[in-house]
Amino acid sequence: MFGTASAGAAIAVKDWLKASGSKGTIRFYGCPAEEGGGAKVYMSREGVFSDVDIALHWHPSSQNAASAAAALANISAKFRFKGISAHAAGAPQMGRSALDGVEAMNVMVNMMREHIPQEARIHYVITDGGKAPNVVPDFAEVYYYARHNRRDVVRDIFSRIVKAGEGAALGTGTTMTYEVVNGVHELLPNLVLQKLVHSNLSAIGGITYTPEERAFAEKIALSLGQQELNEMVAMEVQPFKETARAYGSTDVGDVSFVVPTVGFGAATWVPGTPAHSWQAVASGGMSIGKKGMMVASKTLTATAIDLFSDISLIEKAKAEFEERRGSDFVYEPLVGNRAPALDYRK
Ligand SMILES: [Zn+2]
Repeated sequence: MFGTASAGAAIAVKDWLKASGSKGTIRFYGCPAEEGGGAKVYMSREGVFSDVDIALHWHPSSQNAASAAAALANISAKFRFKGISAHAAGAPQMGRSALDGVEAMNVMVNMMREHIPQEARIHYVITDGGKAPNVVPDFAEVYYYARHNRRDVVRDIFSRIVKAGEGAALGTGTTMTYEVVNGVHELLPNLVLQKLVHSNLSAIGGITYTPEERAFAEKIALSLGQQELNEMVAMEVQPFKETARAYGSTDVGDVSFVVPTVGFGAATWVPGTPAHSWQAVASGGMSIGKKGMMVASKTLTATAIDLFSDISLIEKAKAEFEERRGSDFVYEPLVGNRAPALDYRK
């Protein structure tokens, strides 16, 4: 839906440029691995957006909204512990458990939660904890995310997580190495652009359900434990807010620091649906999702046409961008010089 709505908008704008005789270039970027792979970070680092005046994006959502939502900067990494395997009953004294390293690290990081800014987020999963209880595991891996709305705070928290890993390795007689998997900037808002998108999204409006779609949506709402479906949320556009709390992260963050960037959400999911749930996938795969996708495509198109039609909007957006970014800003990707992974799950 991401790619299709954006490609549809790019084609519509191209046709409009031709028909209206207006001057300008519309460019469509295919950005893979939005969720975890962070392709836009590498694309930003390689300068593929550096000759762009304005970048537009959207994201599937449970509501239609173009508020200047924040997003958290994020560093994710895999910590790999190596120990010595041995028979867990016959010769435990010969072994050094890599899983002990992971567990000791997690205990320390969980204690650390009390002593970090409270808006921060840390989460982990143990991606490898050994294979059999009767074998001391010589390898274990834990996958961490650290987030905050300021990337300098994320860098600091991440360096403390690394220290916890080093301490855990020391104390358990194991060794630890880590690999940064992804790192994204927070979102830099642009109110000139957000207000423009909000006015277009409001003019286009939300979606209305057919009786069949309503029946489907009611089932989804029920599966989410809701008493009743709040259909109005899909039909309406949320009031504009100049700041909105959001705890997710996106690789659009990096784009927003190299070019004035604007985004919004369209109701491709049934109201109340959380992201990363099967319910989000289910409505994305049927006509509710397609209707939301069309709202997104039309909003992108209308906004691009407005920008091509009134160059002063671009100038104002650029002025706000420079002011918010600061004159001494230097773009430093949180992934450093890491090469993009062909398979980010590895
Ligand atoms: Zn996403």
